[in-house]
Amino acid sequence: PRREDVHYFGAGPAPLPTPVLEEAAKVLLNYNDTGIGITEISHRSPEANAILAHAQDALRQLLDIPAGDGPEGFQILFLQGGGSGEFSAVVYNLVSVWLAKRTKGLDETKAAEEVAKLRLDYLVTGSWSLKASQEAARLIGKEHVNIVTDSREHRNGKFGVIPSADTYKPSAIAADVALTYYCDNETVDGVEFQSAPEGENLVADMSSNFLSRKVDVRKHIAIFGGAQKNIGTTGITIAIISNKILPPHAAMADSVSMRRLGLSVGPVILDYPTVAKNNSLYNTLPIFDVWIAGRVMQRLLDASEGQTPRIATQQAESDKKARDLYAVLDGSDVYTVVPDKSVRSRMNLCFRIKGGDADAEKAFLKGAESRGLFGLKGHRSVGGIRASNYNAVSLAAVEKLIQYLKDFADGKA
Ligand code: PLP
Repeated sequence: PRREDVHYFGAGPAPLPTPVLEEAAKVLLNYNDTGIGITEISHRSPEANAILAHAQDALRQLLDIPAGDGPEGFQILFLQGGGSGEFSAVVYNLVSVWLAKRTKGLDETKAAEEVAKLRLDYLVTGSWSLKASQEAARLIGKEHVNIVTDSREHRNGKFGVIPSADTYKPSAIAADVALTYYCDNETVDGVEFQSAPEGENLVADMSSNFLSRKVDVRKHIAIFGGAQKNIGTTGITIAIISNKILPPHAAMADSVSMRRLGLSVGPVILDYPTVAKNNSLYNTLPIFDVWIAGRVMQRLLDASEGQTPRIATQQAESDKKARDLYAVLDGSDVYTVVPDKSVRSRMNLCFRIKGGDADAEKAFLKGAESRGLFGLKGHRSVGGIRASNYNAVSLAAVEKLIQYLKDFADGKA
């Protein structure tokens, strides 16, 4: 089939705007009339630096990210290792900051007493925040990881709600927390926070809803997300890091004190101060991926000329697509949306057909493909149907899916 005849609703990697890919095909052969393709230019060349600066500037505008070197400013880092790499990176970096602050100048006995108080808070509301909490436990020991809430306990063992803050469990360890972690949009379970939760040293995984709505950046200490859903191609991860956890505003614990306390320092490529100091060019950065991200972000900026925030146009479009789809799903007995109404994701719409009837769901997927609608199978761990509504999924694609949903429910598909 031709690209224009296929609509892809997969959870990631996700579709990219066709004009960006057309331009990409050209720059792969010859970047800006240099006679060299973009993947062949040095990441230290002036061209690469301009690409990086443009992407950082575009993101700053889109999400209104405070600039400057003061404690209120944020750095924009491009990393590799995906969202999963950041599960580890946030632990290494924030534990290091916490330890340096809490144990500086203490003798070994006193320092050990402090380390016993190390605590990381995790809000587990779906399979990705669960994975992140498991990585924290693997790295620093589960005694330091406090599961503030596990939403499965509020819903017959299954994800699909975000419990209210008054049900959160306090930790047995009473101390300031190194980080409070949440996943803004749970890709597998179709659950999205309506707004950022409260928490000290707030860290957000925005891998699957980045650039789909405005974000209260100032409330966070770190925000990260893999690029491969709303931003660009697989291969880079974007992190927005508060200066408060970077030198000179914060010190990191050195390897001797970390080891003495039974912890280790993190790998250098995950070390935020190192990546920030080198403006994301500590090691070879895949500049092509940064270029793609920059082109995608430029389109969003162009679409929202004169508006505040600059993500407003995309937010309105994302909201509308999701609203229209949920309206059809709610309007028929054939479909059941999995998560609770109050926390439904605008990005990943998870639903069952005839209460999860295997034959009906198979028939639904087969019929969808015959109309050019692909990628609708739910994640293997939960089954069912999942329509991912990322930024590059057009209104036209959503309209086609809506027509199919109606026809299938009416027995006309
Ligand atoms: N976080 C979320 C919300 C995700 O959806 C994913 C992947 O789908 C990840 C983290 C893991 O990202 P990666 O595969 O880039 O490591």
